[in-house]
Amino acid sequence: MNLSIVEYPDRRLKLKSKKIEKFDKSLHRLLDAMYPIMMNTNGIGLAAIQVAHPIQALILNIPEEDGEQPDENLIEMINPIIKSKDGETVYQEGCLSVPSFYEDITRFETISVEYQDRDANLKTMDADGLLSIAIQHEVDHLNGILFIDKLSYGRRKKFEKEHKRMLKEKKNSKK
Ligand SMILES: [Zn+2]
Repeated sequence: MNLSIVEYPDRRLKLKSKKIEKFDKSLHRLLDAMYPIMMNTNGIGLAAIQVAHPIQALILNIPEEDGEQPDENLIEMINPIIKSKDGETVYQEGCLSVPSFYEDITRFETISVEYQDRDANLKTMDADGLLSIAIQHEVDHLNGILFIDKLSYGRRKKFEKEHKRMLKEKKNSKK
C-alpha cells in the first residue's frame, strides 16, 4: 500500500471521517501501512485521514522518557469516543499535515476514551500527559479539525503568512 501524508491546505483534512463497520484485512493493511509512515516522519500520532482515508482510525506511539518509541507501545484506536474530560493543559503541538509549524494549544488534561481495536474489541483507556493530548489531537482529525483551527485570530493570521512564505520557498528551491 502506497501512502503519503496529506498536507494543509488540502481540503480533505476537513472531511469528517466515517465510522468503521468492517474490521477486515483492508483495515489491517491500512493500519500496518500507516505505522512506518508515522515512525519515519518522527510522528507520535497519525489519523487515517492524514493518509487520505476518511475513516475513524488512528495510531499513536508516545515516546518514552529516553525518546524511544518501541513498537510494542503502538496504540491503534478505531471509532474512538472521548467519554469524559477534565482539567486543562497547554502543550506546544505540531502535526505531520502541517510541517514545520508549532504552537501552544490548550487541551483537557485527562480524558477517558472508548474505542475498538483492529479486531473490533471494545476498550476503554484513561489518559493523561502527552498521551491525552495526542489522542485529542488525533480525534480532532477525525472530525476535520486541525490544531491550527484552535489558534486565536491573530495567531492564525501569523500562521497563514508564515505558511505562504514557506510554500514559496519550497517552490523556489525546486526550480
Ligand atoms: Zn495532526
